[in-house]
Amino acid sequence: MNFGASPPSSDDSGMSSFVENPQYFCGIFKDKDMCVQHIKRQDIVLKWELGEGAFGKVYLAECANLSPDSDKMLVAIKTLKDANESTRQDFQREAELLTVLQHQNIVRFYGVCTDGEPLAMVFEYMRHGDLNRFLRAHGPDAHILEEVKMPPLGQLTLPQMLHIAGQIASGMVYLASLHFVHRDLATRNCLVGDMGEGLMVKIGDFGMSRDIYSTDYYRVGGRTMLPIRWMPPESIMYRKFTTESDIWSFGVVLWEIFTYGKQPWYQLSNSEAIECITQGRELERPRTCPKEVHCLMQGCWQREPQQRLVIKDIHSRLLALVKSPPIYLDILG
Ligand code: AMP
Repeated sequence: MNFGASPPSSDDSGMSSFVENPQYFCGIFKDKDMCVQHIKRQDIVLKWELGEGAFGKVYLAECANLSPDSDKMLVAIKTLKDANESTRQDFQREAELLTVLQHQNIVRFYGVCTDGEPLAMVFEYMRHGDLNRFLRAHGPDAHILEEVKMPPLGQLTLPQMLHIAGQIASGMVYLASLHFVHRDLATRNCLVGDMGEGLMVKIGDFGMSRDIYSTDYYRVGGRTMLPIRWMPPESIMYRKFTTESDIWSFGVVLWEIFTYGKQPWYQLSNSEAIECITQGRELERPRTCPKEVHCLMQGCWQREPQQRLVIKDIHSRLLALVKSPPIYLDILG
């Protein structure tokens, strides 16, 4: 199927709204060369749909002329549906941001395709899709979730969970070094691929909403959707987003990993979850979580932002745990 030969289906609902990250054009990014690569539409051949994101449908495709040493490459194509002026601007902004962000734990961005409609972004293809789905498909409830259709890899082991967490922490160390605040760190925004025998995890989404994960966001006012279950008290109460609020979210990501992708505060409604978080209640220690990892979570969930752990320390502590997991990890695993 040639790109463009596949119009968006008529059941496409409107764009979800999202909270913009005001840093896209500020600070360090102002000085960076934001020359977004352009990819010819004729070089892209769509294969099938992978999912639906904030901007529109995501497809698996083959792309020619991307790299001098390979003829064709598998890529993920994010299309922009309902391109009005405002969504075009969001699209352009995300493309410019992604051009600047280059790290082994940030999804690789190849460029945009803008000769004709729909507008599209071209990314490296991450075979196992988003991390939340992946965790659920490799957890104890995989058989009762639709993810059972995915290839069986068995239940994730503790060393694998630590490895996943370490890679996300590595991506966050990089973002923090650029003073970039993510604002929506969650497993749904990470992607999973293969790396030799092991798993490769990358931060893969910098927009701020998902149609398929809309229950993870709480609509406050007209357009604003907030991932309140991942937010610390100061972000919920004062909309203050900082490197320290990203650390809080990282703690929640750890919790998601060690619960095989449960929704934080799944037993509570949005307003009950807000009440709990602002009153200082903590998510419970997951059953399969070693005490060292629970300590990390608690270090991320200090009420006072300055008291929270810093991402460099979290990263090195996770690397140390990956290298020499405590003995009981093996017993649990
Ligand atoms: P997003 O636009 O990032 O919200 O993506 C929507 C869905 O498309 C995700 O949940 C993934 O399942 C899939 N997806 C997005 N990007 C990729 C990628 N680079 N490789 C594989 N699947 C992807």
